[in-house]
Formats: sequence, C-alpha cells, structure tokens
Amino acid sequence: MTATLIASATDVKADLNTSRCSTDQEANLPTWQQELSNSTIGVGQLLRALDIPQASANQVLQEAEVDPAFPVRAPQAFLEKIERGNINDPLLRQILPLRQELESVSGYTADPLLELSKNPITGLVHKYKSRALLTLSSNCAIHCRYCFRRHFPYEANTPNRKQWQSSFDYIAANPEINEVIMSGGDPLATNDRQLRWISEKISQITSINRLRIHTRLPIVLPSRVNDELLSWLEKWPKQKVVVVHCNHPAEIDEAVKNAVTCLRQINVTVLNQSVLLKDVNDDASVLADLSEKLFEAGVLPYYLHLLDPVKGAHHFEINNDTARTIYQQLAGKISGFLLPKLVRDIPGANAKTLVI
Ligand SMILES: *Cc1c(COP(=O)(O)O)cnc(C)c1O
Ligand code: SF4
Repeated sequence: MTATLIASATDVKADLNTSRCSTDQEANLPTWQQELSNSTIGVGQLLRALDIPQASANQVLQEAEVDPAFPVRAPQAFLEKIERGNINDPLLRQILPLRQELESVSGYTADPLLELSKNPITGLVHKYKSRALLTLSSNCAIHCRYCFRRHFPYEANTPNRKQWQSSFDYIAANPEINEVIMSGGDPLATNDRQLRWISEKISQITSINRLRIHTRLPIVLPSRVNDELLSWLEKWPKQKVVVVHCNHPAEIDEAVKNAVTCLRQINVTVLNQSVLLKDVNDDASVLADLSEKLFEAGVLPYYLHLLDPVKGAHHFEINNDTARTIYQQLAGKISGFLLPKLVRDIPGANAKTLVI
C-alpha cells in the first residue's frame, strides 16, 4: 500500500513537474482562490465546452430558469474529467441543471433535515450528542444538484468573529461534544488565515478530542490542498479527520491522489462519503470500482448516503428496495472494510440511520 502510494506520487512528480506535498503553484497557474471564483459558468457555456449536441441539451434548463441562488458551478479541474459529447457522463449529471428540477414532488422540501431547528447559534448545528457541526462557508467550488443544503440560508449563517466566539462558548459549555466538524458549504473555501484562527480556538477547548473536516475540495479542486493548509492542519494538536465527498471513480485522478497523500503525510485520517444517485453511481460495479480506487488513493469508504428529499433533486432518487439490492451486490464484490455504511439522514434520529 505504502509502496503503491509512493510510486504513484513519484509519477505525479514526474508528470506535473511539481514536488510531492510541496504544492506551491507555478507562476502561470491559477491559485485555488482564482479557480474557485472562476467556477461559476453559464449553462450554454458548459454545454458548448463539453460539446453536448443541442438535441440532448433540450432536457437541460435555460440559463434564466436556473435558481440564481444555485447556479451551475464546477472548477476546471472537475470539468476536465468529464467525457466530451456525453450528456450522460456521471460527473456531468451531478452538476447539470435538468428540467426535472422545476417539477414539484410531494415529500421534497427546502429543509428536508429540519436543520434550521437544530441551529442554536449562527453557524453551529448540534444534532448529534457528541459532535457539533460548524457551517464555515456559504461557498462551494461545485454545485451538486442533489445537495440538501441547496436552499440553506447561508447568508444569515456565516458568522462574524463575535458570533464565532458564541459557538466556541457553546461547545465549551457542552462537554459531551468531543468532536467539532467543519462543514459548509465547503469549509475549505474559507481562507487559511480564518481556518487557522478557528481551529486554534477549537483546540483550546479541553473536551474536544478531534477535528473533522467535511470537504469536497480535495476531489474537485485538489490544488486547494496547498502548503498553507497543510501547515496549520499539521500543527493542530489533536486527532484530525478529513471526510471527502466522491461519488464516482472517474473523479479520482493523479492530482486527487496527490492531495490525499499530502493529508496522510501529516497524520490525517481520510474517509469518503458518497451519495447514491440515479444515473451517476446506482450500479454495484461502479461502486465497487469507487471503493477500490479510493483505497488505492489512501481513502477509506465511510458512508453511502441515500438522497435527502430536497426540492429540485427528486430525479436522483433511488428507493430503499433498489438501494438494498445494489448494496447487497456491492457487498459481494469487495472486502468488508471497503464497504461503506448505507445510511439515511432521518430528522429527529440521534445518528445517521442504517438502511439494512
Ligand atoms: C452527519 C452529521 C454529523 C456527523 O455524523 P457522523 O455519523 O458522526 O458522521 C454531525 N452533525 C450533523 C448535523 C450531521 O448532519
Ligand atoms: S460540495 Fe457539498 S455542500 Fe457543496 S453543493 Fe456539493 S454536496 Fe452541497
């Protein structure tokens, strides 16, 4: 395993002419911030860039029909992994605003997880006893059309420093919380200076044992895992976990592997969560390949989520029975430790609910 990682990282060095875990950008490359701010694209521009023929584009929303609060967004690094001319590409499906988004379907709502009622302080969600989740950033590099946070009122939930202090006080006053989860949006869309400050404050709370970061950036914008990020994270004095979000094996390339290697070298445990999505990864062979590729990259599969019933995402739904069938087939194909837990987020439950 280690040998494989070192071998592939050496290839990266040869290919990209950049040293491993020294992620300084070459002068002519965009910084991650530039890539992030350039990642919103118009529907027409997206379809043209990917050579999607007009006939198949008819199932896609026109620019003016897309929810302006949730425009099409994906970094160049992600677009490059999409097959040209194929509207059914599983990576494209995740970001493509289909006409079906406008259909209203009963049971699909704006706040399916009732998170707003578990939001005691701006920027903090305390739903499960031992962990507090901080919504650090309203920003995401990619807009996943199935996202349960797509209607979340982030603007009202991005705290200033004084409000952050209230979150730290809340965590300190609730010592049953032993883990802080940085979430979002994407927490790594926040700059490193702010992240360093928040993580230092958290490390000073004695009841906290672990820092966990839920982020899609190492997958969709791997250049985000740069020296600055690695330097504050390496110094964080307790245990650290990064949970990435990858749904399909084609999302994993050399740059992603390199980013994960860098995290592992500073003693970060790297896990993955996926969402089971119709026409993206609803196939046991694809999921088996995903688990294998993740492990090859140094990532352990953690959760396979069933879709949250968020308004505008019903076309991604896989029902419980089909999910169970796919999951049983998957279990028959891979090592037990590569099998993620199949779960659903049920409002009011005290943990994610296993679907068995
Ligand atoms: C999913 C989630 C967590 C983390 O749950 P784990 O089962 O520990 O991964 C924590 N807080 C909230 C609000 C969540 O939705
Ligand atoms: S990166 Fe995560 S939070 Fe952002 S849109 Fe995708 S699923 Fe939602």
